[in-house]
Amino acid sequence: MKRNKLTYFIETFGCQMNERDSETIGGLLEQEGFVQAQDVLDADVVVVNTCAVRQAAEEKVWSRLGQLVYESGRRGNVPVIVLAGCMAQLPGTVERIKQRAPYVKLAVGPGHIHRIPELVYRVLEECSAKPVTAVSPSRTEARRTESTQMLPEGLPRVKVPGVSAYVAIMYGCDNFCSYCIVPFTRGPQVSREPEFIIREIQELVDQGYIEITLLGQNVNAYGHDLDRGPGFAGLLERIDGIPGIRRIRYLTSHPRDFTEDMVDVISQSRHVCEHFHLPLQSGSNRILKLMNRGYTREQYRDLVYYIKDRIPGAAVTTDIIVGFPGETEEDFRDTLDLIQELRLDGAFMFVFSPRKGTAAARMDNQIPRKQKSDRLQALVEVQNEITRAINKSLIGTVQEVLIEGPDSRNPEYYRGRARTNKLVVCTTKGPKPGDLVKVRVAEAGTWYLRGPEAEHPKGHI
Ligand code: SF4
Repeated sequence: MKRNKLTYFIETFGCQMNERDSETIGGLLEQEGFVQAQDVLDADVVVVNTCAVRQAAEEKVWSRLGQLVYESGRRGNVPVIVLAGCMAQLPGTVERIKQRAPYVKLAVGPGHIHRIPELVYRVLEECSAKPVTAVSPSRTEARRTESTQMLPEGLPRVKVPGVSAYVAIMYGCDNFCSYCIVPFTRGPQVSREPEFIIREIQELVDQGYIEITLLGQNVNAYGHDLDRGPGFAGLLERIDGIPGIRRIRYLTSHPRDFTEDMVDVISQSRHVCEHFHLPLQSGSNRILKLMNRGYTREQYRDLVYYIKDRIPGAAVTTDIIVGFPGETEEDFRDTLDLIQELRLDGAFMFVFSPRKGTAAARMDNQIPRKQKSDRLQALVEVQNEITRAINKSLIGTVQEVLIEGPDSRNPEYYRGRARTNKLVVCTTKGPKPGDLVKVRVAEAGTWYLRGPEAEHPKGHI
């Protein structure tokens, strides 16, 4: 077999952690001589890196798999299809593959992606008719072995174009929010040793990445499972001191574990961006309890006020789920009231959708679809009005913007992100991707700020 002629293609669904994992899968395949195909239909191996967070996401993957086989079959070249990521880890995956997608030859959970090349070769060499699986044991067993979802250190990654890079600082989650499947698919929390994280970031900075985003299901709990070493605040401090680093972001935060000392460290840091994404989920204490979120609306409010007090100008955004089982009009009103009081910069707002296998999917009092969508609409109207007003209040300010690339609507101009993560269109011609420029905001809408470059005509600040 001429290994260096084999080609691969990766399709990624879901979150940033999956995007990061796909970079590793690509790096591993290239290390073994695979070459990236330009078109999925030309590939010998197609990896579909999946998301299981919503039922709809899962359905989308099943239908994509069917489409892939149909299209590649018409061209007479059905590739080795690998189902990677969270869906591979769901109970009953092999049975479902047999029923719904028998052409899928490999199912590989997130903690085993480093084995993909070896398993692909096994399939290619044996022409295996049966699906081969590499998924983690049940969660109970995973707890015993503790590291089943943790990837080995030092795996290669493909270099992705752009100015930002992702770095996973931990894997898995211990929280069991009642609506979430992630602890079942990604296993218990396991933090990486800080030395490995620092080394990876230094390498990325040396390669020219300007912005590093730290990834974890609950970054604020980083280190809780390590015997020694820094917690998240200490880790941020160390990363802030890496020579050459310009911007640091992190995803996802949990309000329960976001401590004041973390806010203090961020307020003192040079490179950690002043953007706090704090998923509230509900403004009702009763619903927060049913969600098993571990904080109250009062604690959330105190945290937001502490941030705004310590870091004036910081942006705070959130996630909200409406129509959780049993949510009354009064509960929903609590959410609206809190949103109106806190005046956050933005929100991702969703209707509750039951995820099979979670506690919330089994709860009584599921809310009718119409009621959920009415509540969502009411919330969106309130929040968008607040977002628009906050953005308009920024007219006349100067924002530091990391230029990412041409603006899709007007390619003569460039777009990028302010430190607060707001989208900024720079109406001066000249900046290039990777430049950090100052932009004076002249115009603002719900989703953007716009203005000419100010003060620094060229290049990095
Ligand atoms: S913190 Fe909650 S919502 Fe986030 S991954 Fe863990 S269980 Fe899911």
